[in-house]
Amino acid sequence: MQPALEGMKVAVLGGDARELALMRELAVEGAKVVGLRLPPGVEPGGLVECRDSAGCVAGADAVILPVPGINERGRLPCAYSEEPIFLTGEILALIPKKAPVFVGMARPILRKMVEDQGLTLIELMQMDEVAILNSIPSAEGAVQMAMEMMSITIHGCVVFVLGFGRTGMTLARLMRSLGADTRVVARKPAHLARIYEMGLLPLTFNDLPGQLKDADLVVNTAPALVLTAEVLKEVPAGAIIIDLASSPGGTDFEAAAALGIKAVLAPGLPGKVAPRTAGRILARVITRLLRGEKGLI
Ligand code: NAP
Repeated sequence: MQPALEGMKVAVLGGDARELALMRELAVEGAKVVGLRLPPGVEPGGLVECRDSAGCVAGADAVILPVPGINERGRLPCAYSEEPIFLTGEILALIPKKAPVFVGMARPILRKMVEDQGLTLIELMQMDEVAILNSIPSAEGAVQMAMEMMSITIHGCVVFVLGFGRTGMTLARLMRSLGADTRVVARKPAHLARIYEMGLLPLTFNDLPGQLKDADLVVNTAPALVLTAEVLKEVPAGAIIIDLASSPGGTDFEAAAALGIKAVLAPGLPGKVAPRTAGRILARVITRLLRGEKGLI
């Protein structure tokens, strides 16, 4: 059978171990994968390294940016380059118009830059199929961090999971299966009903202040300031807070520090704890989308 992406050129600009795994998967699917920087000494295994962005994107059928996209100054995260790499309008102008640009999450600046060039931006983390699968390494990463930070077992400890979306749901289930006394904070009545059905304690954000005094561990997934200074006053000094929500998180970190509570923002866990899995999740959906488009190109 013909490989799914045979004859296609895919350009990958920057990234880390997750993008490297993604590149390898796409090469297995038959794509010519050109990476803007590969790790030094890495076995190429069908990948082609390109030292300049222009050469990388020229003639590409798809362009993949690192999951976090670019920062406010247009800088691309690239673990394998000592000098900073920037995505500019000039580089985007070289991308063939038919080529989709993939990213995990896009800041407004990236959306505008891509739109200005008449290109199509696909935000992978907005897709349930990616976000749900991604929640597995995210939840495992949170458990790993909790084990490293706490002097007690997860089993038997009191865990509050804040938010019951794609990540919160997976995390709540994982905590329960490890034997934690798991309490889940959500706002939709249907979510509260599901939490109850799962045998967990449902709470609303209004309930929080009176409840957190029992916490050993709090994991936030709600992308809003939910752990305010007022709420944090209830958290015991020895408790740990792991905030998974995208920067700036949902915790008043200054107030936590002033109260002597150990609170950490933990971005990008899939890429850190399971880069191969995280790369494979992205490769699967990108391959499917490119295969779907192939006939149209
Ligand atoms: P999601 O499916 O949209 O779930 C978000 C949850 O937060 C929902 O329960 C939502 O409640 C709740 N929420 C949103 N705004 C809220 C507010 N103002 N007050 C209270 N609750 C609120 O998102 P997700 O995929 O689970 O991701 C959650 C966050 O984690 C995002 O910021 C995402 O970028 C981040 N993330 C981080 C990692 C990591 O490695 N650190 C990995 C994956 C995701 P409703 O359903 O009622 O709206």
